[in-house]
Amino acid sequence: MAAKHNVKTLEQLNERERNYYDMLIRQRDIVMGKMQIHAEDALDCSNADKRGVTTHMADMGSDSARYEMELKLMSEDGDVLALIDDAIERIFTGEFGKCLDCGGQIPDGRLNIRPYAIYCVKCKTKRERERNF
Ligand SMILES: [Zn+2]
Repeated sequence: MAAKHNVKTLEQLNERERNYYDMLIRQRDIVMGKMQIHAEDALDCSNADKRGVTTHMADMGSDSARYEMELKLMSEDGDVLALIDDAIERIFTGEFGKCLDCGGQIPDGRLNIRPYAIYCVKCKTKRERERNF
């Protein structure tokens, strides 16, 4: 973690950093909005089960499958949210866009699609390959 005096304020960000900051804040809003919807959907499903509205086994099956899917989506969004928060913090500490593995600069082309990326393509590919074995 960078020392406190190295942390920039919003006004000190350069144009590039400011662009990514805006992008991340927008994505954060979208993810949070999505999480809200998933949370409500998941709640709907569990309430339906409790009230005994779903009497057919087939319905219950699909309801709990949907509930599980909603929970899975929520946890995935939760991960993205953590990455987004982390990326925002890294903008202010000047660490934004640096690969956590090799310290290399992640290309803008990749950051424009995924501003919360923490690995360069090379390191990410390597990690994915290692995970599959
Ligand atoms: Zn790397």
